Amino acid sequence: MHDFDADNEALVRAVLDHALGRMADEPPMRPVSTDEELRELVGETITAEGLGGTEALRRYVEHLAPNNIAADNPRYLAFVAGAPTPAASAFDFVVASSSVAGSSWLDGAGMVHAENRALRWIADLADLPATAGGCFVTGGTMGNLSALVTARDVAIRERTAAGLDRPGRWAVVASASTHASIDSAARVMDVDVILADLDDELRVTGEAVTAAIDGRPGGTEVFAVTATAGTTNVGVVDALDSVADACATAGVWFHVDGAYGGAAMAAPSVRHRYVGVERCDSLVVDPHKWLFSPFDCAALVYRDPMQARRAHTQHAGYLEPLMDDTVFNPCDHAHVLTRRARGVPFWFSLATYGTDAYRDAIEQTLAVARATRDLVVAADHLELLVEPELSVVAFRRRGWDADDYQAWCDRLLADGTAMLTTTTFDGEPAMRVCIVNPRTTVDDLAVILATLAPGA
Ligand SMILES: *Cc1c(COP(=O)(O)O)cnc(C)c1O
Repeated sequence: MHDFDADNEALVRAVLDHALGRMADEPPMRPVSTDEELRELVGETITAEGLGGTEALRRYVEHLAPNNIAADNPRYLAFVAGAPTPAASAFDFVVASSSVAGSSWLDGAGMVHAENRALRWIADLADLPATAGGCFVTGGTMGNLSALVTARDVAIRERTAAGLDRPGRWAVVASASTHASIDSAARVMDVDVILADLDDELRVTGEAVTAAIDGRPGGTEVFAVTATAGTTNVGVVDALDSVADACATAGVWFHVDGAYGGAAMAAPSVRHRYVGVERCDSLVVDPHKWLFSPFDCAALVYRDPMQARRAHTQHAGYLEPLMDDTVFNPCDHAHVLTRRARGVPFWFSLATYGTDAYRDAIEQTLAVARATRDLVVAADHLELLVEPELSVVAFRRRGWDADDYQAWCDRLLADGTAMLTTTTFDGEPAMRVCIVNPRTTVDDLAVILATLAPGA
């Protein structure tokens, strides 16, 4: 079964051929089947004898592959999509076939070096010091959790060093526009979330952070503030510099969640929005969102990686061979041990195309977002909800309710026009498009928006 014989070689080639075809053409968008329908179509696939590669691949290609909605379709504008480069997607095969756990320098030095060069590029975009470092994790959710675990560990150490007891409750300051994963991390950690107010531009400011910290309940201590560099719903970058001031004054960890928006630090036209990011203690940026990497790839960077090591390193006799202070072990920086070297496809793509290509591709998506904003503003039946700062355009169709939006999304998917999903804004139903694919054109958006015209 394990011999790499002619049959296995033929199977690998057939699988790679399918993958190559998938990269060359995204499948049409269409609604997916129910689980019952798929059971019917695909039949039983897990059998004692095995189906054989040819048959298993046939069932995948004919029935399962078309029942996915590929996020790299230029008209996939729901959630935050992703559009991997061919180089990045191809190198995912290399990671898979190399059998290197990207956990430690001991057996993954080559992979770890590559990942760290890519991580360094992100740290440089944020103007973080040369000592900054971290690792690639599965997503922003895991990045945020790992960063907050480090932040709390630091706060515990500081209190202990100062001879203070642990507080009754720990809390993290966030806002109504913070991503749901921060709330999820707080639940995992059994800590509270204190909401800072948003200003008129939907931004968290230092003033609001200070008010949130000062207003904490008795017995509660704040161990971290999280600011968002590009909110998921509308793409607003919090006032990072003033939040950094508030964190410095309060002596609290400053985490920046740039899972979606951090990528645009590479775009000169919007780089000024991120001033203050260089003062963060930790930063998350998802290459699988707006840096053209396959799922699942999120960069987690710490100003001082030693703090992460104290919080996350796992200790056991069988792990002692890894304990070497002179080398860098990615697994010490997040809630992980065995890990896929998921930053390597991103590294290969950056190395292949160069960082200028990344800058240009991100600027391209920003330009399309600005043009989309203009299309919305020009249409009497549409209402722009927020001036776009990044590549999210949020709007309403005048006179529509939640059912109308949903029916519109269903129609667009049913006829293969686009993949859109609804959202809420100010508690009311709304639409948003998020443009992270450089192949998405203004014309794509014009076609989609035209279907909203009265009588269309
Ligand atoms: C997408 C997103 C996350 C979660 O990232 P995953 O990679 O989906 O886990 C966190 N924060 C923000 C701002 C996001 O946009």
